[in-house]
Amino acid sequence: METLRKQKLREFKESWTLCAHCGTCNARAPIIPHNWRELPPPEWSAPYRRCPSFEYYNYRAYTAQGRNVLATLFFDDAHYPITEDLLKIVYTCTSCGVCSDICKATDPLTAVWAWREELTARGAQLPEPLEQIHQRIQDSGNMFGAKQAIQRNDLPQAGKDVFFAGCNVRFAQPQVIDAVAKTLHKAGIDIAYLGDHEICCGFIPGYDGNTDLMERQAQLNVENLRQAGCQRVIVSCAHCYRALSVDYSLLVGPLPFEVVHYADLLAQLLEDKKLAFRESSPAQVTYHDPCFLGRFGQIYDAPRTVIQSIPGVELVEMERNRRWSYCCGSGAKISAACYPEFGGAISKDRIAEGLRAAGTIVTACTTCVHQLTRAARNEGIDVAVKDLSVLAAERLA
Ligand code: SF4
Ligand code: SF4
Repeated sequence: METLRKQKLREFKESWTLCAHCGTCNARAPIIPHNWRELPPPEWSAPYRRCPSFEYYNYRAYTAQGRNVLATLFFDDAHYPITEDLLKIVYTCTSCGVCSDICKATDPLTAVWAWREELTARGAQLPEPLEQIHQRIQDSGNMFGAKQAIQRNDLPQAGKDVFFAGCNVRFAQPQVIDAVAKTLHKAGIDIAYLGDHEICCGFIPGYDGNTDLMERQAQLNVENLRQAGCQRVIVSCAHCYRALSVDYSLLVGPLPFEVVHYADLLAQLLEDKKLAFRESSPAQVTYHDPCFLGRFGQIYDAPRTVIQSIPGVELVEMERNRRWSYCCGSGAKISAACYPEFGGAISKDRIAEGLRAAGTIVTACTTCVHQLTRAARNEGIDVAVKDLSVLAAERLA
């Protein structure tokens, strides 16, 4: 049976609206609407560099505008040749969502996702790194193909509040498990952690065209969470958050639990006076808005509320922030896996922008932490990249 998610992508293709070729999504110029005199500057000013794939490849084919033209040709012709160049144009879209946020004529990013789904349906061989990730997820339940997740005997494996750690945390960022457990415990919330009973959320296959694999992951995770007695899932990675809060109900029906991002939860606990931070050494930090938390989840204020509640910590914004935030280079974990040089260049750009604001980049997505940390190490750049949960735990009262 066709899932609601597949149905939505199919209906999108059937009611396809064409690009008006205004060029706004990729032009290296501010967006100035006809009534600009009546609007406050943040409503219409825009950064000069918006679309990461266009900034790197410098050809119109790598913009939303160019992709829209190609997608139209592809949808209309069942025998359109699937070449390496075509796949590169499709999979270098980082899914950052800036174009869809700007575009008034169509939804260019959903077109890319529908295009990827159509490629899979036509039996296309996806870029090799994606095929390998799919295989690892199927075989071992995680995108790394690792055998055993970080174990935490001090945390229960069942409970009403379950921390959904995500692959990056379960295998490589134990400090985030510590930080989330410690911070929430202070506010009277004891989390469960499923360890090996949690599996990859399925975001990568779901957004590279393999909805069937994402559906399988959703079914298994929802069943594991149900068996653990979960009433609320607390998520750290912005991609897991998108998968659980938006896609899972389209794949498996209504969920038996609530889904929250921990940044939202911490901001709520601060407002309820259940959490407080101590006075500590002064520090300047900047905040990187993850695409799937900001533009897609509209969670802009909560992480800033947390940072600004810490005495001594000053938040200095980057030039491109909130709705204009730039991709970290991960490209929804897909672009960086397939085209690492491209991903690395985007990360380098974002890190440089972060360093112009402050020496520490804080973010609220463990995939962004992973991407920015790895890129800084590869480039020999001295910058601290920190998950918001870690910053909060360090400064608890
Ligand atoms: S995709 Fe939208 S914003 Fe971009 S050129 Fe086409 S109509 Fe304009
Ligand atoms: S989602 Fe981002 S990378 Fe993809 S076309 Fe739109 S602006 Fe460019």
